[in-house]
Amino acid sequence: LMGEISVKKDISEMSLAFVGAGKMAQAMAKGFLAAGVVKADHITATAPSCRSQDTLEGIGCQFTHNNKEAVANSDIIFLSVKPHVLPGVLQEIAPVVTKRHLMVSVAAGVPLQFLEEKLPPKSRVIRVMPNTPCVVRQGASVYVPGSHVEKEDSEIIKSLLSSLGYCSESNEGMISAVTGLAGSGPAYAFTAIDALADGGVKMGLPRELSIKLAAQTLLGASKMVLETGKHPMQLKDDVCSPGGTTIYAIHKLESGGFRNLLIDAVEGACLRADAIA
Ligand code: NAD
Repeated sequence: LMGEISVKKDISEMSLAFVGAGKMAQAMAKGFLAAGVVKADHITATAPSCRSQDTLEGIGCQFTHNNKEAVANSDIIFLSVKPHVLPGVLQEIAPVVTKRHLMVSVAAGVPLQFLEEKLPPKSRVIRVMPNTPCVVRQGASVYVPGSHVEKEDSEIIKSLLSSLGYCSESNEGMISAVTGLAGSGPAYAFTAIDALADGGVKMGLPRELSIKLAAQTLLGASKMVLETGKHPMQLKDDVCSPGGTTIYAIHKLESGGFRNLLIDAVEGACLRADAIA
């Protein structure tokens, strides 16, 4: 516990930069502020356009167009540009990266070896796969330490990401699968919520109520899985009474290939993550 506290104390003194001030960066910055683990005026975000400037300054963060300056003045650098933009950004910032910097890439499909090669020798690099529910501190993330990170670096990232939801250390061989399941997964759930709400509306419910019921139902089911520790199919069996409404619905889902579709979705995103690497 003492170790945890001392890491947290150190983090609150650290300065963070997001190189690439887009959706993922904003979700993480807002989550860190909601968690109270980082001070707003210790966060800088960068982008070539001014599109996200108001949002970031509105929550008390600094905004600049200057990547090198942001990197030079920060301790922890989140590389949060699109994967195809990252090589150019690495080349641009490499001259100002020193031993001081802990480099954290959230880019899908960009290997640690590539990141380490583009940065000065012995750079401390960690690869992270987060997801946007970080914004409400219900994210699901993994991190993979690079070859030159210290134990304390991993602890700092673990502590930061844990403030945004679930987080565990992983290895790089798993990261595309994590991308396919958790990185892209919120979009599958949003689509499911919208479709369930359509079902409610079709059967006569107002749209607003339908969306609330759909979202809360997925949230409740998720909490039951996490908090009871029961297998999801045990929980499914528990609500399927013989000849009842639920098993009729399950039959419809099975005839439509519901499970196959979800498996295909995870596989599709995973293979795409590998392809853009
Ligand atoms: P985004 O397009 O919303 O954000 C990218 C940001 O980078 C924009 O603000 C853009 O202006 C900025 N940018 C472009 N060129 C730049 C440059 N040269 N220097 C500095 N900034 C520059 O994209 P996003 O969805 O936030 O994704 C960012 C990264 O996060 C990607 O690599 C993606 O793989 C990863 N990621 C995203 C999600 C997600 O759910 N969105 C989940 C996991 C990982």
